[in-house]
Amino acid sequence: EPDPTLRAESLPDDTDRALRPQSLDEFVGQEEARANLRVFIQSARMRGEAMDHTLFHGPPGLGKTTLAQIMARELGVGFRMTSGPVLAKAGDLAAILTNLEPRDVLFIDEIHRLNPAVEEVLYPAMEDFELDLVIGEGPAARTVRIELQPFTLVGATTRLGLLTTPLRDRFGIPTRLQFYEINELNQIVRANARKLGVDTEADGALEIARRSRGTPRIAGRLLRRVVDFAVVEGNGRISKALADASLTRLGVDQLGLDGADRRYLTLIAENYQGGPVGIETIAAALSEARDAIEEVIEPYLLQQGLIQRTPRGRMLAQKGWAHLGLAAPVAKGQNDLF
Ligand code: ADP
Repeated sequence: EPDPTLRAESLPDDTDRALRPQSLDEFVGQEEARANLRVFIQSARMRGEAMDHTLFHGPPGLGKTTLAQIMARELGVGFRMTSGPVLAKAGDLAAILTNLEPRDVLFIDEIHRLNPAVEEVLYPAMEDFELDLVIGEGPAARTVRIELQPFTLVGATTRLGLLTTPLRDRFGIPTRLQFYEINELNQIVRANARKLGVDTEADGALEIARRSRGTPRIAGRLLRRVVDFAVVEGNGRISKALADASLTRLGVDQLGLDGADRRYLTLIAENYQGGPVGIETIAAALSEARDAIEEVIEPYLLQQGLIQRTPRGRMLAQKGWAHLGLAAPVAKGQNDLF
């Protein structure tokens, strides 16, 4: 049977791993979360106990996995990683839990996608470090209780609203990650460029930061693509002009929106006169999964004030019309005023 835990070493993108900050000090941004984690980590170390269970929530690419790894490193304990959809059966989780060393960090990505039978196993494990296993079937079935080593569960989710209440309540440290400021992304781009050994002009790095959709993962990806253009078509150095031309060719606009973002905005503007339009309708019209729209596309558009969410559906905001270079239609009734 395949091991349902992924070792950190086997993560898909090697460069991603190479760029990951290794300590809380090296991690840029998320000041409040970082300051709190620092205290909780130190306290757990001083008491010699497992740190309390921690839940990171927020859009993809903001550093949830990275923070979980940093926690393990700073706690001086082992790190095991798995994800909600990978844990098919209760036994898969039981196998992982019984193999943990004292105070290890177990990271479960996409924890909102745990199967309910697996989630049941997690409750006593989180609360009392105990596992109730059912052995046998039918009248001969019996439950055995297994003591676990104390451990820290770190859950990550892009959809806090999809977590069940009992699971949510068992996290002592719920932490929301925010989109990054441009100056923070600028620091991240510059640090990544240094690690990649790339020559970057100050306003070249800033241009990449400005167009990274508030997201370190995107900043890393865009930097690598701009480096490709710089190496093949330039002199290897990242200037503002080179960054701008490369990003435009990649379909990343002045606000950092990509093709999918613009298709979403254009659909609401042109097919629905700015909305309101329901999410299911948008998903069908764009042939995208509703989850992907809600997890990946909308959070940034909302944060930027390009769209609004109303009880009747999504609406294009004034700034959204302006970004598309279109005039907002005059609101109904407004014409009759004069
Ligand atoms: P998530 O788990 O939230 O999807 P990750 O932790 O996998 O995000 O981070 C995605 C990428 O962005 C990684 O390459 C990571 O190194 C980088 N990254 C995330 N947060 C930061 C940060 N604060 N500083 C520098 N790099 C970061």
